[in-house]
Amino acid sequence: MQRIHFDTEHSMFRESFRTFLKKEVLPHQDAWEEAGVVSREAWLKAGEMGFLLPWADEEYGGAGLKDFRYEQIMAEELAYINEAGFMLPLHSALCGPYIAEYGNAEQKARLLPGIIRGELILAVAMTEPSAGSDLAGMRTTAVDKGDHYELNGSKVFISNGLLADVVIVAAKTDPANKHAMGLFLVERGMPGFARGAPLKKLGMKSQDTAELFFNNVKVPKANLLGDAKGGFFYLMNMLAQERLTNACGAVAGAEAALQTTIDYVTERKAFDRPISHFQNTRFKLAEMRTQVDVAQVFVDRCVMDHNQKKLTPEVAAEAKLFTTELLGKVVDEGVQLHGGWGYMWEYPICKMYANARIQRIFAGTSEIMKEIISRGMKL
Ligand SMILES: Cc1cc2nc3c(=O)[nH]c(=O)nc-3n(C[C@H](O)[C@H](O)[C@H](O)COP(=O)(O)OP(=O)(O)OC[C@H]3O[C@@H](n4cnc5c(N)ncnc54)[C@H](O)[C@@H]3O)c2cc1C
Repeated sequence: MQRIHFDTEHSMFRESFRTFLKKEVLPHQDAWEEAGVVSREAWLKAGEMGFLLPWADEEYGGAGLKDFRYEQIMAEELAYINEAGFMLPLHSALCGPYIAEYGNAEQKARLLPGIIRGELILAVAMTEPSAGSDLAGMRTTAVDKGDHYELNGSKVFISNGLLADVVIVAAKTDPANKHAMGLFLVERGMPGFARGAPLKKLGMKSQDTAELFFNNVKVPKANLLGDAKGGFFYLMNMLAQERLTNACGAVAGAEAALQTTIDYVTERKAFDRPISHFQNTRFKLAEMRTQVDVAQVFVDRCVMDHNQKKLTPEVAAEAKLFTTELLGKVVDEGVQLHGGWGYMWEYPICKMYANARIQRIFAGTSEIMKEIISRGMKL
């Protein structure tokens, strides 16, 4: 189905991002998977090409492209090439905006240029071993010590955990109020800040997901983002954009899984005919085609609403819920239609299946999305 919300500039941007991926990402995907981490060079190249925080103001080195369609294009193209470890959208569309939105002038001038050039890679650390969905249950604390905060605790499952030079860490700041938390910019090399080994995962093999530890880390007051008790609100406020980013990638991932499955079933033969000639195959693919098209229209509309600051947390949750559940179904049917070859890593559908599973869990599980949506319905 033809999409109607992109202009010529977006098509040109997409072409140039595709060229970048062909040159700087595709040739390295196997090596990154093997290493469990993406190379820093790719980040620096992305920065050089203007693909990091393209929305940021020109005074910091950004292009001032305040249009979420550019973020959507990058999330889509990464999904089309099945690259789940190079978490450029996390850096650009999730972490960077915290600094632009809640950082003060000094923090922005100090950090944004390096972030835009790819010299400072970002991560955000909310989840803890005993608190994920229930963020208010986190135990990491930041105690005001006059000229600095003393940070203690640990975080788990942190994307970009090893590469990150600046981690936005959520920590409790008032024992009497469970929603009082601050967001602290913890920098590489700060004494007491340590990282665990990369976590072994089902998919996203090139992603350096890690555990982070904070032992009496002295975080200067200059590294507090916004208000020391406002972090919970900031997190909630930013999650809608994060979820929209997930939805953009998930529907594109479903499209890619559908395409690779179509390619396979038209080639593969059984009982003297292509698998695509069986009615079961055609009906499954027709169902998927319909659902992906419907999802795409919804996501594109959400992107345009977000551009006008009209996307509500509830609708962003609907987008994440629907597209990530759909992605799960499409990759599962895709594996089925590949038969045993679908279970082999050398076939793209296998990696897509493994990469897709987390989409229904991170950035808020499907169950939490339903909580948000039903709360909006005043139920
Ligand atoms: C690969 C990967 C990357 C990640 N990246 C990051 C990152 O960069 N930064 C970060 O901070 N976190 C990150 N996460 C963490 C992720 O966001 C959490 O895993 C997720 O929010 C779920 O939290 P949990 O794992 O503690 O599960 P739990 O909260 O323990 O949930 C377990 C189950 O209980 C259900 N459940 C919980 N509460 C309710 C409820 N109220 N109603 C109904 N059901 C409920 C959940 O839906 C789920 O099915 C990442 C995780 C992974 C695996």
